[in-house]
Amino acid sequence: MPMNRSKYPDDWEEIAERIKDKAGWFCQVCGFPHSKSIPGRTLTVHHKDGDPMNCSDENLIAACQRCHLKMEAQLRKRKKKEMIEKEQLLMRFTDGVF
Ligand SMILES: [Zn+2]
Ligand SMILES: [Zn+2]
Repeated sequence: MPMNRSKYPDDWEEIAERIKDKAGWFCQVCGFPHSKSIPGRTLTVHHKDGDPMNCSDENLIAACQRCHLKMEAQLRKRKKKEMIEKEQLLMRFTDGVF
C-alpha cells in the first residue's frame, strides 16, 4: 500500500524517531531488536487507530515491518467489519421505510 505523505503531520519523522527511541529500538510487539546503526531490518511506527494524524504517544507503537503488516491487516479487517455493521444498521432502518 503506498504511503500517503500528505496524511502525515509535518514533523512525522521526528515523532517516529521519538517513539522508536522510547521503545529502545525494539519491536514492541515481538521484541525484535533494531538499531539505528544496523541497516536492513526497518523499525516502523504504527498508528493503533489507523489515523495518521493522531500522533499521541498512546496511539503510536514501534513495530518491525512484519508485525506492522499484521497490525495493518487486523486494522483493515476491523474497519471492514465496522463498515458492514454500519451498513446492516442502515438497512435495518430503511427496511421499514421502503
Ligand atoms: Zn515485530
Ligand atoms: Zn500502521
